[in-house]
Amino acid sequence: MKKAKSDDSISLLQLTKERIPIKSISEGNVTIAGWLYDSRDLGKVRFGIIRDASGEIQVTAHKDTASKEIFEALAKTPRESVVVVQGLVKKSEKAPGGREIVPERFSILAEAAQPLPIDVSDFSKTELPKRLDYRFLDLHRRRIQSIFKIQSTLMQSYRDYMVRIGGTEANFPSIIGSSSEGGTELFKAKYFDKEVYLSQSCQLYKQMLACSIEKVFTIFTVWRAEKHNTVRHLNESRQFDFEMAFADEFVVMDHLAKAVQHMVHTVLEKNSGDLKLLGINLKVPSVKYMSFSETNELLKKHKIETSSTDLTGEGEKKLGELFPDTIVFVHDWPLEGKPFYIMPKGKGLSGGFDAIYKGMEISSGGQRVHIPDLLIERLKAKKLNPKDFTSYIDSFRYGAPPHAGFGMGVERLTMVLLDLPNIREAVLFPRDRDRLTP
Ligand code: ATP
Ligand code: MG
Repeated sequence: MKKAKSDDSISLLQLTKERIPIKSISEGNVTIAGWLYDSRDLGKVRFGIIRDASGEIQVTAHKDTASKEIFEALAKTPRESVVVVQGLVKKSEKAPGGREIVPERFSILAEAAQPLPIDVSDFSKTELPKRLDYRFLDLHRRRIQSIFKIQSTLMQSYRDYMVRIGGTEANFPSIIGSSSEGGTELFKAKYFDKEVYLSQSCQLYKQMLACSIEKVFTIFTVWRAEKHNTVRHLNESRQFDFEMAFADEFVVMDHLAKAVQHMVHTVLEKNSGDLKLLGINLKVPSVKYMSFSETNELLKKHKIETSSTDLTGEGEKKLGELFPDTIVFVHDWPLEGKPFYIMPKGKGLSGGFDAIYKGMEISSGGQRVHIPDLLIERLKAKKLNPKDFTSYIDSFRYGAPPHAGFGMGVERLTMVLLDLPNIREAVLFPRDRDRLTP
């Protein structure tokens, strides 16, 4: 066998041409590039595990046959350094994946400083805040990569579904001149000499657009200045939004269910390896519809404390236990418990709903008020000043059809699907009360 030097450098052009993803290695002489995940020294044999975004492979050097430089480099190279390896693929029953590379070239492209500030092994016990401080390094872990590969599939498949039903993807402003929903949980910002707010939803804009283009969707970033630090709230999050003309809440609940089913189905198809790494046994959810009063009756039977205007956290949890792998739509929601723009239905009820999945709210939606006078009435009922909503109200004066829609948290859904203990696990660079970096 050819004995090569460990510092044989390779040009990036050459590397781009020659390099193959670890996942697609089968046989022959290959060049790979990745991170040195682990190395082991058994005296006469030295192993390295190289990881790239697609997978892992073992590199095995025997003292007698490998070049001295390579044999030494395998022991000396700090973990998580970026290396290029070229060598022959061999079947090996003991190696993970049943194959290994016998190295003929080994070079370091970027050395990792030691010690690493966090543990990036598969069995890492580094706590979440520290991991988030070093998120860029935390992302070396395949488990962590898997979460975001799955989230990518969720976003892509959401778009696929929405485009398939004739939806138009749209962008909306994130800076707003006045509080759009009358909420108090808005971040203020300076805009030249004016005071503005960061958007807490694209509610009003998607409604305006649905009133012409009919079916509209977006994946939109929102900011909420909620002071509480919980495991299911962020101050900056993203939402899968949808709004549709000529529709009531039941039409959009059906689209929401089908969208999530399609998304989960696609994850099962595309991310089976990622799910395995995460130890998640995912199922395409079934769907159940229950009115708010039916839901509360059921919860009372199970001795869960209920509220007359909202579901409690306990209630959501119980629904998850009673109906596993099911999206539970709780509809005919008390008007009092929904925002001013939700359509009243009479008898104190509304066209608003929540979707509960695996014990947590993943979405709220409903039919909207498209009648200006009714909107004014609803604003007053919520102790809001209609004058602050003039342009919004006026947008429904010139031919606005009935319409409905929903917003579903991107991170919330990821958290729920992957059974993550904290929503911060489902966002690359979280923004919460205490965190602004990285
Ligand atoms: P929750 O009751 O769970 O606090 P909400 O009813 O205040 O949520 P909505 O305004 O209905 O939230 O937002 C639609 C969806 O966006 C929610 O169902 C949830 O999936 C997600 N979401 C809402 N607030 C947050 C947040 N602070 N961080 C992350 N996701 C959120
Ligand atoms: Mg809600």
